[in-house]
Amino acid sequence: MSDLVNIQIDGVDMQVPKGATIVDAAMRHGVKIPVFCHHPKLEPVGMCRMCLVDVGTPVRDRATGELATDDNGEVQYRYGRTLQTGCTVRVSEGMRVKHEDPDVKVARASVIEFLLTSHPLDCPVCDKGGECPLQNLTMSHGGGSSRFSFADKIQNQYSFDKQVPLGDLIKLDRERCIQCARCTRFQSEIADDNVIAFHNRGRRLEIDTMSDPGFDSIWSGNTTDICPVGALTTADFRFGARAWELVPVASLSPHGPVGENITMSTRREAKAGGRTVIKRIMPRQNELVNEIWIPDHARFIHHFAESSERLTKPLIRKNGELVESSWDEALELVAQKLQDNRKSAVGLAGDRLSNEDLYLFSKLFRQVLTTKNIDLANRRIAGGDVTAAVGIGRDTSLSDLGKGDVVLVVASDLHAEAPIWWLRLKQAAERGATIVTINARQTRLDKYASHSIQTPTNELLGVVAGLETSDAEYATTIRDADNLLVYYGCEGLDYAETDALAKSLGNLLIATGHHSGQKNGLVAVWPECNTQGAWDMGVVNEFAAGISAVVTPGMGADDVYAGRAGMVYIAGADPIGDGLMTR
Ligand code: SF4
Ligand code: SF4
Repeated sequence: MSDLVNIQIDGVDMQVPKGATIVDAAMRHGVKIPVFCHHPKLEPVGMCRMCLVDVGTPVRDRATGELATDDNGEVQYRYGRTLQTGCTVRVSEGMRVKHEDPDVKVARASVIEFLLTSHPLDCPVCDKGGECPLQNLTMSHGGGSSRFSFADKIQNQYSFDKQVPLGDLIKLDRERCIQCARCTRFQSEIADDNVIAFHNRGRRLEIDTMSDPGFDSIWSGNTTDICPVGALTTADFRFGARAWELVPVASLSPHGPVGENITMSTRREAKAGGRTVIKRIMPRQNELVNEIWIPDHARFIHHFAESSERLTKPLIRKNGELVESSWDEALELVAQKLQDNRKSAVGLAGDRLSNEDLYLFSKLFRQVLTTKNIDLANRRIAGGDVTAAVGIGRDTSLSDLGKGDVVLVVASDLHAEAPIWWLRLKQAAERGATIVTINARQTRLDKYASHSIQTPTNELLGVVAGLETSDAEYATTIRDADNLLVYYGCEGLDYAETDALAKSLGNLLIATGHHSGQKNGLVAVWPECNTQGAWDMGVVNEFAAGISAVVTPGMGADDVYAGRAGMVYIAGADPIGDGLMTR
């Protein structure tokens, strides 16, 4: 049976997915039915009534089930007694939709008029101005005037605090809320953090936080993206710039292994001496990676770029003091030190560097100095060689995971370490995928897991090694999976143990025929954004890219911390700040 149905919108025939809402089906053909509460990632609720349309369905003869026709042989249609919400009505075969009908236009203008009876139209001073759906739809569908009385507006300004902090990061301007519930639905449906809700009734209805501390969710910034008005704003960007002043720059989040797609809104700023600065960070849609969501750390941790403590000139220690120098003097000094300590120099690189930087760093040691004394400064998880061999297949979309697919997560708390992966696996479980977790403690993913195995860390490797042969239900589920994705981390494990874990999981994937295809393979929950790149570029001590035989290690990070290195060249790493003092 076809998954498409034939419908007509304003006389134009189109084929659309069966079961889609009228709003989503129309959008696929470029017909934009105006909405406020509707959001394609949220369940429909039909709250705002902005998407009203006139819907007709073909009449069938009750006795025969055949299409009823008039005297001219034309199929007859039955339209509802009232207009219907296009965001909740799902398309059916032969449906006819009037979207530009005069009655529909009047109804929409009335909805706008109603919304504006309590909306202050603060556009000149509102952060949403210039990118506001209410502003835009008022211009395109409104009646041209507001009945919100000026006296009420002034009254509101004195009776409402201008803004209410919902938490440290998010502010609420209550008088701008149009009660669409996008924010509350996002928090409960998508983020599973039910921490904000409606409070009071009628004209006094308002969003409030139910958690202590307020708005206790790592996803809170997403509500400001999907709020269709300027009711929710970030404390970070509020009054920071006007939308039309900003230049969007596409980028990837540098925090963690996911690589969330982001847009940096930038602007040249007088107080920065005319330099271009980042004013805010927002998600950039990529359905393969992060859809349209980012965790708060990806959105809000960017001010380090403007830190006054950033070094702009090289410092050389002279007579016990660090003093500024020229780049020529600094580079000559480093070159001399490298030559003087050719065999005892150790290079430590950070795993936030780009592949290009890591490649050149590796080349300097391996080819110019001809030593293997190079290592990753932040050695928390091993196994980059294993993931390079049996890693997740190209073009895998976590959106495609569902029934028959199994995801095994070992020694990792994805909600804390890689929240987007947690979100995607939660959604996969909701679509029918089987989640199995093996960890020393419970994590938030366990709520969506079919099997949650808690085991002491000193027994974890044994449990994983047993997956190939064990009769335990979870082991047979893993082996029999149509597709098997495995995530592993380092919770409770040292570096050598993560090496053993990666190899054990790699063997499991190979033995069960689940390696490197689409929706199959091994994923390391790396601590930084380019740890895999560091492995691939040959920065890791034991592993040089392209060398499959066992490589004799040179001096590495352990020698540095044991004081055995003659000179240490550290690139893009902070041995103290990165937590390595615990080594
Ligand atoms: Fe204007 Fe939109 Fe702000 Fe309302 S939410 S004041 S319509 S910019
Ligand atoms: Fe909708 Fe924004 Fe109000 Fe939440 S705060 S209900 S998203 S208008």
